[in-house]
Amino acid sequence: MASVQTLLATFRRFQPTVEGFRWETVPLKQYKPEGTHFRDITRQVLFGPESGLPAELRYFEVAPGGYSTFERHAHVHAVLILRGRGRAIVGEQIFEIAPFDLIHIPAWTWHQFQADKNETLGFLCMVAVDRDRPTRPTPEEAQQLRRHPIIGPYVRL
Ligand code: MN
Repeated sequence: MASVQTLLATFRRFQPTVEGFRWETVPLKQYKPEGTHFRDITRQVLFGPESGLPAELRYFEVAPGGYSTFERHAHVHAVLILRGRGRAIVGEQIFEIAPFDLIHIPAWTWHQFQADKNETLGFLCMVAVDRDRPTRPTPEEAQQLRRHPIIGPYVRL
């Protein structure tokens, strides 16, 4: 008789806490090892390379007033907002974001996620397992970005 199952499934129950969204056995990690170019953000890898996919699914949570690194890179992001409100700076555009909005970040496009002053912003972000390291603006680029008529007033470098 054929077996109905040859590999064990992985099930991790959603376990929200007062501190934020969590999933059973998924460790809460620092967003990045070090730096002052981001604020109040955590990272959880929901599906990592062990899932057998060429992609990883991560959950980022940004505390009120916090923000991710302003960066760009060759790899792309597919983002689904899960909680809270804030804004996404993508290239020369600013999007006011709310739960269930979808954002695609193209290759080599500057981007940053910012939580509203009174809102915890949480989002899923899908990336390729094999990906390049993000780069931050050079001093010259930072100067140009700060002068940009649309995104200039909002960028947190
Ligand atoms: Mn990025």
